[in-house]
Amino acid sequence: MLTVETIAQWMNGWTKDIKANKGYLNELDSVIGDGDHGSNLARGADAIEAALLTAPDDVPSTFKAVAMAIVSKVGGASGALYGTAFLEMYKESQRTTDMVKILDKAMKAMEKRGDSKPGEKTMLDVWEPVVKAAKRGNVTPIVIDDAVESTKDMKATKGRASYVGEKSIGHLDPGAVSSGYLFHNLFEVGL
Ligand code: ADP
Ligand code: MG
Ligand code: MG
Repeated sequence: MLTVETIAQWMNGWTKDIKANKGYLNELDSVIGDGDHGSNLARGADAIEAALLTAPDDVPSTFKAVAMAIVSKVGGASGALYGTAFLEMYKESQRTTDMVKILDKAMKAMEKRGDSKPGEKTMLDVWEPVVKAAKRGNVTPIVIDDAVESTKDMKATKGRASYVGEKSIGHLDPGAVSSGYLFHNLFEVGL
């Protein structure tokens, strides 16, 4: 069930994974981008943890606090995109507690913000198949891992990785990996 407590559990799991894998995310980003994805998100992770300690006690405000922490601390493309996602979760959670609907809206807002679609080697290549599976009620860790892996053979056409073009093929997208952590933790909390 979507509550302040389950969101906090979800977010604290994600921030723990981000911090534990900061170096790995930077490494992935140094191959096809500018090497800062782990550092960007780790800054946000600390801000998210701090915000959760003081957020008002309702679901939309909790999403809003996470969004504000991301927008103010992460920076880069991922800050804008994850920030957009959580701001949309804040808005949609005022209308529903159905996490599938909330995620679907968040994904659509990200597509709009990034002017991107699945298939362009971004975090959306994890969001799209996971949200699709969630609609059918069959998200599994394998679905998430397969989605992350699928970015390896793609050629980047959006974001910094598009600057290296063909050379992006054969490498995982860092944002896809961090979104993989997001969804693994969501799956574990059972939202
Ligand atoms: P920056 O590229 O500004 O340094 P980060 O390194 O933190 O920011 O984030 C890079 C990640 O952002 C990429 O791996 C990709 O998943 C995602 N990304 C970049 N541009 C877009 C976009 N237009 N749409 C969706 N995701 C994007
Ligand atoms: Mg980067
Ligand atoms: Mg950068």
